[in-house]
This record gives sequence, structure tokens and C-alpha cells, in this order.
Amino acid sequence: MAERRKFKKRFCKYCEQKVDFIDYKDLNSLKFSLSERFKIMPRRLTGNCKRHQELVTVAIKRARQTALIPYIVDRKNVVESPFENLR
Ligand SMILES: [Zn+2]
Repeated sequence: MAERRKFKKRFCKYCEQKVDFIDYKDLNSLKFSLSERFKIMPRRLTGNCKRHQELVTVAIKRARQTALIPYIVDRKNVVESPFENLR
């Protein structure tokens, strides 16, 4: 279970930055809550509060619909920093 300790801090990143609205076009803020295969990270790992996790979820789903984030990633497309290709 050592891997799960990757996200040690339990406070919400978005509360810390006093974010009220998460833009689906702002991939830099969304990628905190995405795994390297573009899955939404669960709240127990990221430490987001419930309110912000819901905002992030909506934003990520919108970003998927607008093709900013892929729904699925092939195994060969998994790279160190997947957001390089998107910018
Ligand atoms: Zn929060």
C-alpha cells in the first residue's frame, strides 16, 4: 500500500487556491485530478473536498466531450507526461 501514499496531504488543492469555478478548458488544473491514463482520480487519493471533486468531475466530463481529454488511452500512448501532446 506504499503507492497510495503518493498523495499525502489531505487538504483540497482547490480550496487552498480559493477556486470557485473550474474551467474545462484549463487542463493544467484538471490534470491534478487525472491519472496518467486520463481517469478521474478518486477523492480519497487526491484529498479534494466533495464540492470541488464534483466541479472537477463535471469539468473533466465536459473536456472529454470537447475532445480535450481522451476517454481511453492505448497502452502504447501512455507516456511520462501525456499533456505534452495536447498543448
Ligand atoms: Zn475544495
